[in-house]
Amino acid sequence: MTIKKDKVVEMHYTLKSDSGEVIDTSKGNDPMPFIQGHGNIIPGLERALEGMNVGESCDVSVNPEDAYGAHHPEAIQDIPMEAMKSIENLELGMELQSKDDQGNVFIVRVKEIKEDLVTVDANHPLAGQTLHFNVSIENVREATKDELNHGHVHTSSCSH
Ligand code: ZN
Repeated sequence: MTIKKDKVVEMHYTLKSDSGEVIDTSKGNDPMPFIQGHGNIIPGLERALEGMNVGESCDVSVNPEDAYGAHHPEAIQDIPMEAMKSIENLELGMELQSKDDQGNVFIVRVKEIKEDLVTVDANHPLAGQTLHFNVSIENVREATKDELNHGHVHTSSCSH
């Protein structure tokens, strides 16, 4: 079966940075399931996988604009420690919820902690990076009606 819109794909993948460092891999776990054409994975990878068949593998490099976007320096902000007082166990790498002027919730990561300032970064950790995937297609099947309605794959560990 061939990968196209509304198919459920299970793939093994290894993701490397430009410098060849392994960022993430499905090795040692079950292959990762997603529905093609529903934005479950980054656009550049979805495009590259279109038309592939079960048993095939390939190397795909994805530019930041087709992955997690450009790195925005203005998304890095210093916040007075005073404003962080209510947060327990503040530590580097911690994810915090923030709200913009329109009330939209977004996630920031703690990048630096100084005596009176905390630097937080709203960029995705992989923003600005070209991503290098090696993928192998393990399984392709039709999505069920429920899966298409929900826009995500239902696995045996799924509760609904
Ligand atoms: Zn669901």
